[in-house]
Amino acid sequence: MGRVANKVAIITGGASGIGECMVDLFSQEGAIVIAADINETALEAASKKENVYGMKLNVSSDEDWASLAKEVNERFGKIDILVNNAGISSEKPYQDINLDDWQKMLAINGFGPFAGMKHVAPYMAAQKQGSIINISSYTAQIGQGFNHYSASKGAVRAISKAAATAFGRDGIRVNALFPGIIETPMTQALSTSKELLGRLIQATPLQRLGQPADIAKAALFLASDDSAYITGAELVIDGGFSAQ
Ligand code: NAD
Repeated sequence: MGRVANKVAIITGGASGIGECMVDLFSQEGAIVIAADINETALEAASKKENVYGMKLNVSSDEDWASLAKEVNERFGKIDILVNNAGISSEKPYQDINLDDWQKMLAINGFGPFAGMKHVAPYMAAQKQGSIINISSYTAQIGQGFNHYSASKGAVRAISKAAATAFGRDGIRVNALFPGIIETPMTQALSTSKELLGRLIQATPLQRLGQPADIAKAALFLASDDSAYITGAELVIDGGFSAQ
């Protein structure tokens, strides 16, 4: 028996990086996984895997969320797990960030997880159980990244705690993960500078960058019944970078 056997899990951003790794791990551990992503081409590959269903979703759309949650519930009979993982980043220097940049970032990284919880929680509440995992970032906890990305991840941190409080009585747990630098397509640019990469590794107590599996395994624990009494928790997964 897998650790999330027969659970129905929606994983946003499931077509790449950390999300794709979670889709693989959760399905290996027995879940029926809905890999929800805006990138339809990448979803085609995900949909070929056993027990994985690729579905198109723009996380910043209220309408998309309403229809996805309804469809998943109708098709699979319930929703047990939601991982709000989809996100975008930006390398723009703070002097160049304008209101459009800010609003796009907050729409995807902030409203996305909010809308996901808003539309999925009622289905979880109906069965008096559910686990929601929101992916924030270490930049929401320390003074790194004076930009719209960190602001959006700070929003994820705040709404995760608030949702844990609001939904606890419905049997829904809400926890947040705070990854450090993880090697995925999002951070690909880093590998072009060996010098920068070397400095980042040097600055990390565990002397390596993170891998998608480092985050996926923590999400699996929070999704499973092994963490049945954990809600409102914040787990930093950054090799000790922010502990210094
Ligand atoms: P990634 O770029 O590899 O994957 C992100 C996925 O989200 C892509 O498949 C993309 O198509 C999807 N996506 C983007 N906008 C979307 C939208 N509007 N609707 C639906 N899907 C959308 O990134 P990743 O590194 O795997 O990051 C996953 C999450 O982890 C993000 O929230 C990111 O901010 C967070 N994170 C990553 C790192 C890191 O170093 N990689 C560090 C901290 C936090």
